[in-house]
Amino acid sequence: MPLVRAYIALGSNLGDRIGQMQSALKALAADNQLKVLQISPLYENRAIGMGEADDFLNAMAEVETSMAPLALLDFCLKVESKLGRVRTKEWAPRTIDLDIIAYGDEVIEHERLQVPHPRIAERDFVVHPLCAIAPNVEIRGQRVAHMAAALPMDSLTLCELKLELV
Ligand code: ADP
Ligand code: MG
Repeated sequence: MPLVRAYIALGSNLGDRIGQMQSALKALAADNQLKVLQISPLYENRAIGMGEADDFLNAMAEVETSMAPLALLDFCLKVESKLGRVRTKEWAPRTIDLDIIAYGDEVIEHERLQVPHPRIAERDFVVHPLCAIAPNVEIRGQRVAHMAAALPMDSLTLCELKLELV
């Protein structure tokens, strides 16, 4: 398999948020089919639509992988459950969420995997972390920097804490 550049969004709003995100990054990097190239700053985000849930921490990882798209998804889901994620209802608080935002230039419309992630352009907590590490990447024909400029950081703040590239 050729190496493909992919972007994985990390999010957490339950428990030791930064610890879980750091563990997820470590688990991703530990696989010999995947290399973490860059990690964005951390952003804190209000948990929209989740009632009184805790705020989210969000970040973006740039990786290089020889895994096929569905293998990468299964790997992300495995890391999520290893870190104690339990799926209850939609939009429920989560210890860790790993979403594949882009996989090279591929457009994938599979029942288990849509890439590029369909609602990127409207999600400040995806676009701004992505813009911090990959402003020139194009998603569905649109430069990430352009998407970020069109999307105010309303409920998003840059954190001082950082994830470590492992
Ligand atoms: P969400 O991240 O939307 O809150 P979940 O993390 O519970 O939802 O994931 C539900 C399902 O979304 C996964 O089992 C997976 O099959 C599917 N899915 C579709 N596209 C993607 C993607 N690009 N990245 C991650 N999961 C995806
Ligand atoms: Mg998810």
